[in-house]
Amino acid sequence: MEAELLSGSFYRNKTDKKVKIAVAQGDGIGPEIMDATLKILEAAGANIEANFIELGEQVYLSGNTSGITTEAWETINNAKIILKAPVTTPQGKGYKSLNVTLRKSLGLFANVRPVTALYPYVKTNFPNMDVVIVRENEEDLYAGIEHQQTDDVVQCLKLITRPGCERIIRYAFEYARAFGRKKVTCMIKDNIMKLTDGLFHKVFLQIAAEYPDIINESQIIDIGAAHLAAHPERYDVIVTSNLYGDIISDIAAEIAGSVGMAGSSNIGKNIAMFEAIHGSAPDIAGQNIANPSGLLNAAINMLAYIGQPKIADIVKNAWLTTLEEGYHTADIFNNKFSIKKVSTSEFATAVIERI
Ligand code: NAD
Repeated sequence: MEAELLSGSFYRNKTDKKVKIAVAQGDGIGPEIMDATLKILEAAGANIEANFIELGEQVYLSGNTSGITTEAWETINNAKIILKAPVTTPQGKGYKSLNVTLRKSLGLFANVRPVTALYPYVKTNFPNMDVVIVRENEEDLYAGIEHQQTDDVVQCLKLITRPGCERIIRYAFEYARAFGRKKVTCMIKDNIMKLTDGLFHKVFLQIAAEYPDIINESQIIDIGAAHLAAHPERYDVIVTSNLYGDIISDIAAEIAGSVGMAGSSNIGKNIAMFEAIHGSAPDIAGQNIANPSGLLNAAINMLAYIGQPKIADIVKNAWLTTLEEGYHTADIFNNKFSIKKVSTSEFATAVIERI
């Protein structure tokens, strides 16, 4: 029953109706990469209606401590699909991460992060890399349970539950089956965290036994991360807990070309949110130089999810052709692999010209 539900949730049925999408423009480079992405989707004929919502830094600064307006929640609950640009969260102080709030409040339990090398069009040392990281999205140290014990002692609780493990691990195996992938690797640290990571590993082995058609393997996260960085082509699907998944997906995206290239799908039972894996990049905000590919890839997955796979293919092909012809933003520009260094908006125009 659960398995059916999960495999059914990869894509929705086709519909000719315009699909309502809640669109958050985000902070930092967010508005620039969202503008580029929406222009490309429009040019490709995506049958969507963008409903803009307010969340992030400006909402916090206006005095709303949740970082998201009541109207935004209404639009999200009505649309059930969100396309979101990155938002800024202060380090070591200030308000709670809005990303964590959204993922937890909406029950977005699976964070799916595909990373594929685009060699010889984009420079990478790993031409055959093609990995999907399935990151648990609601538990672990991200549950946000932190205590001040004394001035000098603080505590953060790591929360892992059997239902949480079962859901994400089953999702990873169902995903592997649905997309013809051969192997699922579990990354844990159960030599040290014997109970929490131990439970994740135990559940992995139990569920893996139900999928004899898929190879399974387990690795301790430190050596797993090192092997991923050195031999990413050996991995197919990786399933892991929240924090490890966050870290290794940035590593994977960066060694495939740039952290600016990868998109992610946050999947819940009846609701899904699509975003780039990277942050709001305040160091390059407002300069029109950010790579919009991560958000565009998320949007391509969104189109497939809402039953518009043909449009998704059109956008993906135009994007690939643009990269193949050497139109590269600064983060992936390389004299040997690139023809022209383009801005965010020029990249979008180049993609639109190839639709
Ligand atoms: P970051 O991902 O924003 O940036 C890291 C580096 O990668 C920077 O040098 C940046 O310029 C570069 N980079 C990132 N995206 C790029 C792109 N599309 N094109 C070109 N270069 C790109 O990470 P950070 O600096 O650690 O975080 C900045 C802010 O983003 C923080 O407030 C953090 O909390 C937030 N954040 C948000 C999300 C999200 O909304 N999902 C995710 C991660 C971080």
